[in-house]
Amino acid sequence: MNTTVDYIIVGLGLAGIAFAEELKKQGRSFLVFENHSQTSSLVAGGMYNPVILKRFTPVWNAKEQLDIAIPFYLSLEKELSASFDEPLPIYRTFKSIEEQNNWFVACDQPILREFMHPELVKVESKGVNAPYQAGKLRHTGRIRVKELVSMYREDLRKNDYLVEETFRHDRVITWDSHIDYGDIMAQKIVFCEGNGVKSNPFFKKLPLNGTKGELLTIHAPELKLDYVIKSAVFIMPLGNDFYKVGATFNWSDKTNDPTMAGKKELEEKLMTVINCPYKITDHEAGVRPTTGDRKPLLGVHAKNHRLAILNGLGTRGVMIAPLMAKKLYQFLENGEPLDTEIDIKRFKQKI
Ligand SMILES: Cc1cc2nc3c(=O)[nH]c(=O)nc-3n(C[C@H](O)[C@H](O)[C@H](O)COP(=O)(O)OP(=O)(O)OC[C@H]3O[C@@H](n4cnc5c(N)ncnc54)[C@H](O)[C@@H]3O)c2cc1C
Repeated sequence: MNTTVDYIIVGLGLAGIAFAEELKKQGRSFLVFENHSQTSSLVAGGMYNPVILKRFTPVWNAKEQLDIAIPFYLSLEKELSASFDEPLPIYRTFKSIEEQNNWFVACDQPILREFMHPELVKVESKGVNAPYQAGKLRHTGRIRVKELVSMYREDLRKNDYLVEETFRHDRVITWDSHIDYGDIMAQKIVFCEGNGVKSNPFFKKLPLNGTKGELLTIHAPELKLDYVIKSAVFIMPLGNDFYKVGATFNWSDKTNDPTMAGKKELEEKLMTVINCPYKITDHEAGVRPTTGDRKPLLGVHAKNHRLAILNGLGTRGVMIAPLMAKKLYQFLENGEPLDTEIDIKRFKQKI
């Protein structure tokens, strides 16, 4: 049976969901292909945080990202009758007096004032080593991404918007007026493949390097935290004394498999942060779609304007995906130019 849609979306991680939502809002029809080859969105800690905690600098476009992201997840909660957004403070523990001073200096910057409390806070949990106390962040939290992806997938399935197979790039035929893919006719294809873009002949030369990350889930009844601790690792409360602990950064291994080396690294770091017993209950891994310049990859193919990409969400897909989906839609449908720092045209020789 022939199907005609405005868009084909390839990939149902955070990028694919954000673009599908934008299409729904704009009354456009679409089909999503998903082959379960990547796990980045499924394993993500889901944290949103407008400050880079290594250097105490703002995340690029943090305010604009948050202003779009939070209403986006709240609207998905309504649509799917579920709860995904859990506002949670983040406590950044300090290693020295010097780090405390750096925090105060950062708090004085107008752009950071909104996100950082200017007083030091004591970490009340006896299970955490924090001799130099901590700095507390505002407007932070966690999106339950795994639940969101699986509920969204189920909803698409129910409505026949989902094709659960590998998208075959060699089956794309482009005409002046449309694209054919088997018996599907579409106006455009948006590739949201995460690190899977490496198998996409149209965009595989773009500098998306992929950074593998591993996470543990632990059960630690004595830890008693109702906020996130960011120290050598982050420790995020999940409820009922369970916590996510992460994450590693590995630039050479591109598999989704948890490793003994990843587990060892996380446990060694965890032991420097907490001093109470815990049990590991889960261990997951995925490859983040990271880029050399830490900016997303948006735009259309140089020789085929019907093929578009939404990728490169890096380590912060939760905050950035909804805004990027909006920008890509406005570019594709209304010709609004993309900012040069996110447009794939910055890598002219690669497309
Ligand atoms: C360990 C870890 C922790 C993280 N923690 C956080 C965090 O706390 N906060 C945060 O904001 N971000 C976090 N991230 C980053 C975040 O997960 C990513 O930014 C985001 O998931 C990227 O989403 P995406 O949709 O671009 O890619 P993906 O989630 O990889 O989705 C791509 C989808 O495309 C599908 N696909 C690929 N090729 C094909 C094909 N040919 N046919 C059909 N389907 C295809 C894949 O199966 C996949 O479902 C973390 C990542 C990792 C790995």
